[in-house]
Amino acid sequence: MEKTADVVIIGGGIIGLSLAYHLALKKVGRVVLLEKGQLGEGSTGRCVGGIRTQFSTEINIRFSLASLEVFDRFEEEFGVNPEFKRIGYLFLATTEQELETFKENVRLQRKFGIPAEFVDSAKIKKEWSYLRTDDILGGTFCPWDGYAGVSEVLTGFTKGAKRGGVRIYEGTEVTEVGLEKGRVSAVRVKEGKISAPVIVNAAGPFAARVGEMAGVRIPVKPLRRQVFVTAPFRLDDFSIPLTIDYHRGWYFRKEGEGFLLSGPLDREPGFNLSTDYEAMVEASENAVYRVPALEKARIARGWAGLYEISPDNHAILGEIPGIKGFILANGFSGHGFQHSPAAGKVVAELIAEGKASSIDISPLSIERFEKGQLLREPLTAFKE
Ligand SMILES: Cc1cc2nc3c(=O)[nH]c(=O)nc-3n(C[C@H](O)[C@H](O)[C@H](O)COP(=O)(O)OP(=O)(O)OC[C@H]3O[C@@H](n4cnc5c(N)ncnc54)[C@H](O)[C@@H]3O)c2cc1C
Repeated sequence: MEKTADVVIIGGGIIGLSLAYHLALKKVGRVVLLEKGQLGEGSTGRCVGGIRTQFSTEINIRFSLASLEVFDRFEEEFGVNPEFKRIGYLFLATTEQELETFKENVRLQRKFGIPAEFVDSAKIKKEWSYLRTDDILGGTFCPWDGYAGVSEVLTGFTKGAKRGGVRIYEGTEVTEVGLEKGRVSAVRVKEGKISAPVIVNAAGPFAARVGEMAGVRIPVKPLRRQVFVTAPFRLDDFSIPLTIDYHRGWYFRKEGEGFLLSGPLDREPGFNLSTDYEAMVEASENAVYRVPALEKARIARGWAGLYEISPDNHAILGEIPGIKGFILANGFSGHGFQHSPAAGKVVAELIAEGKASSIDISPLSIERFEKGQLLREPLTAFKE
């Protein structure tokens, strides 16, 4: 293993690998990526691949649009078909406040040229008649949204990074981050020490632990979400978007021959990755409430994963003030897969050129928490 590098990336999830690829494109020198387990074994491997432009803040919309360009030409650039299925996202509102906020969101999205539209309850009933609609006041739909294959995208970034000369080590946990005179100097792994002037924290839900190694508090908490998949089941020949019952915090979409149903999101942070019976019951109850025909579907499997939640549900990107060379790519709060192409690019720009030029990432700096400049969303952020 190398004793020195120009950049060390801690974490081999979708963010670390997108960054590795973009750093290789920029030829920043010797890049080493260290993953404690296997590539993608963290949040990435448990994610359901959702991609949407229907966000309610400008910064998230910018990340979505920049990432969408990459998903669209992914096969050309990476030689891997990302299996991007543009089935659309349908948000359902059941309260006046949700309705007003969704309308406001559409106005914002349309300013960016996104073809999101407000749909009234009559149209919802007509187009998606498998839904229970008696309590639905309206919704929003965008045909640009959909989902892609997580392992395909991860493979694309990994191959691209390796082609560009990035050295990737699995089974290699970083246990210490060394500092010297106000800047990062090295990381420690079981094989020894790797000295580097730039170290990136791309440790997903473990971001705070890696921060502690450098004596910094990074406000990212792991929060479990459970998901379930039914055995093969048909709902006639409807075109079925990823459908979100916002009030119930529940969503579903097709998955192979069956359906993927979201389960509950934990209230308290923790690293527990098990699934439980109560969660399965909650997922089924929500499913049968909103899509009565699913009463006959059978749950075949489920899993749990961790979101990496920041206090305002937006990413934390950039250098830590006071520790030169310590770069954060954390806190994606459940949107890291879909924003990974843009996130890798902007952090690579920051490292290679000293400034992220494609998107202004200053609102995402960690300093916003101390300064009380949190980003605000009109409703609690929806998380896939
Ligand atoms: C159930 C579920 C569904 C989701 N659905 C979506 C979705 O539809 N769309 C979307 O955009 N996002 C979704 N997400 C969120 C998405 O999965 C994450 O935002 C994204 O995967 C974060 O990527 P990451 O690379 O930052 O983290 P991770 O994938 O967790 O990667 C971090 C890596 O760092 C490694 N690591 C940690 N500490 C160390 C150390 N000390 N040394 C070496 N390596 C270390 C870990 O082993 C891990 O592999 C979902 C998440 C969950 C849980």
